[in-house]
Amino acid sequence: MSMLPNSQEARDVAYQLHPYTNARTHQQAGPLVIERGEGPYVFDATGKRYFEAMAGLWSVGLGFNEKRLVEAAHKQMQALPFYHTFSAKSHGPSIDLAEKLVALAPVTMSKVFFTNSGSEANDTVLKLIAYRSNALGQPQRKKVISRLRAYHGVTIASASLTGLPNNHRSFDLPLPNILHTGSPHFYKDGAPGESEEAFASRRAEELDALIQKEGPDTIAAFFGEPVMGAGGVVVPPATYWDKIQKVLKKYDILLVADEVICGFGRTGKMFGCDTYGIKPDAMVVSKQITSSYFPLSAIILNDRMFEPIADESNKIGVLGHGFTAGGHPVGAAIALENLKIIEERGLVAHAAELGVYMQGRLRELASHPLVGEVRGVGMIAALELVLDKGRKTAAATPGAVGGIASRMLQERGVISRNMLDAIAICPPLITTKAQIDELVDAISGVLNDMK
Ligand code: PLP
Repeated sequence: MSMLPNSQEARDVAYQLHPYTNARTHQQAGPLVIERGEGPYVFDATGKRYFEAMAGLWSVGLGFNEKRLVEAAHKQMQALPFYHTFSAKSHGPSIDLAEKLVALAPVTMSKVFFTNSGSEANDTVLKLIAYRSNALGQPQRKKVISRLRAYHGVTIASASLTGLPNNHRSFDLPLPNILHTGSPHFYKDGAPGESEEAFASRRAEELDALIQKEGPDTIAAFFGEPVMGAGGVVVPPATYWDKIQKVLKKYDILLVADEVICGFGRTGKMFGCDTYGIKPDAMVVSKQITSSYFPLSAIILNDRMFEPIADESNKIGVLGHGFTAGGHPVGAAIALENLKIIEERGLVAHAAELGVYMQGRLRELASHPLVGEVRGVGMIAALELVLDKGRKTAAATPGAVGGIASRMLQERGVISRNMLDAIAICPPLITTKAQIDELVDAISGVLNDMK
C-alpha cells in the first residue's frame, strides 16, 4: 500500500499498535480505514462498500445504522450519563436489563453481574468460582477445564481459558490451574472411520479421564462456547453437549456457557444453550447484547453460584470485585432497546429461517476443489479451505490459503475472517436473502479465481 504522508493510513501506522495484526508487516501494509456503516455494509474513506460478513466482530446484530439504538443512547446520556452499581447503588437501566436477562435465560437463573467485555466477564466468572469454592469449604476445588480451540478472551485468566496457541505463546500462559481437553472439531480431530457419534463419546470419555486423573474434587468448572467461534466455527456433533453434561453432573462440576458469540439469535434460537440443550450454572453474554454499539457484558448466574457467593461476601463484609463502568446506564439502555428490537422484528426467527437458507447456499460450495468442509448453524458458518481434500490439508504455512481468500474477498467488497484456513461467515441478523445471494456469489467468484 502506498500511503500519502499525513493520510489516515500513514498516521495509523505511525501511532497505533493493533490487536490481532502483525505489528511489523502492518508498517508497510497499512490498515483498511472504515468511515461509516449502513445496514450490513460498511464504507471506506474512498466510498467503497463492503458487506460485513463478520458483523464486525461477530457482534453487530442490528447492522451499522440502527437509529433507535442511537436515540436510546442519546436519551440516556441526557438523563444520567453515568452511574455505577458499587456499594449498594443502582440505576434503572441496569435493574431493567438484569431482570430482562434473567427472564430470557433458557434455565432458571438468579442474578446478573455486569462487566464490560467478554474477557472481563470470563475473568470474573473464574474469580467467582474460586470465591464459591472457598465459601463451600473446598479450597482444593479451583481447577477449571476448557477446550483446545476455545476462545474466551485475552486477560491473563481468560486467555488461559482460551485454547489457541497465539493467545498463549510468548505470553507465558496458560495459568497452571486451567486445563484443556479436546475440542469437538469432528472434521479436524475425528479419527479415520470414526462416526460423529463415536467421536462425541470419545470426547466425553477423555473429559472423564482428565477429571479422574486430576482428582474430581479439585475440578470446579467446565467452560464452553455452545458453538466455538474464533477457533474456526466448530459446530459440535448433535449429542456432544448431552454427553459432556452427563460427565459434569457425575462429578458435580459447574458448567459455564460462554454465549458471547452465540447469544441473542446467532444459532437460530435465543441462545446457543437453547440450540444444544445446555443447562449452564452461569452464562456469559456480550457483543450482540448491544449490537456492539457500546461495550457491555454480563454474567447470568443461578442460585448454585449465587448462594455460596452471598455467604462468603457476608463473612468478609463485601464482594470485593467490580468495574467502574460495569452495567453503565448508557450501555444498559442500548442493550434494552436492542433486545426490544430483536423481539419486535422477530429477528431470532429470521435468523433461524435465513440461517437455513444461508447454510444451504454455502453448502453449494462444498464440492469446490478448494473447500474441505462447509459447517455452520443458524447465521454462523465457516468454509474450511484445503489444497488436498483427501488429507484435509492446506498449505505448509497454516492460514496462508485462507489469508489469500480473505484478501481477495475484501477486494471484491466482502469482509470475512480467516482463522487458520477456515473462512468465517457471521453476517448481521438483519441481512436479507438477496444479500446472502450476493455474498455466496462473491465467495464462489473468489474460489474460482483461486483455482
Ligand atoms: N468469548 C467469546 C466466545 C468470544 O468470541 C470473545 C471475543 O471474540 C470473547 C469471549 C472475548 O470478548 P472481548 O473481546 O469482548 O473481551
